[in-house]
Amino acid sequence: MENNICHRCGKPIYELIDFGSNQDGTINTDYCHNCYVNGIFVDHGISLEEKIEKNIPPRKNNQTMNKGKKNTITV
Ligand SMILES: [Zn+2]
Repeated sequence: MENNICHRCGKPIYELIDFGSNQDGTINTDYCHNCYVNGIFVDHGISLEEKIEKNIPPRKNNQTMNKGKKNTITV
């Protein structure tokens, strides 16, 4: 297999699955799968993981752990 490089991000592509895909589902050997998916350029400089993280609202540090409510009230 030839040593292909993504024309967008410059990442070397070694495996077929790392290639981008055209709108018709065929492989696009000009770009990697991080840059070109289903005929559409993926947002520049952002990985899929980062995209997913963006969709998750920021976690609040709600450490409300109910450690077995033992209300030992001493009267
Ligand atoms: Zn790329």
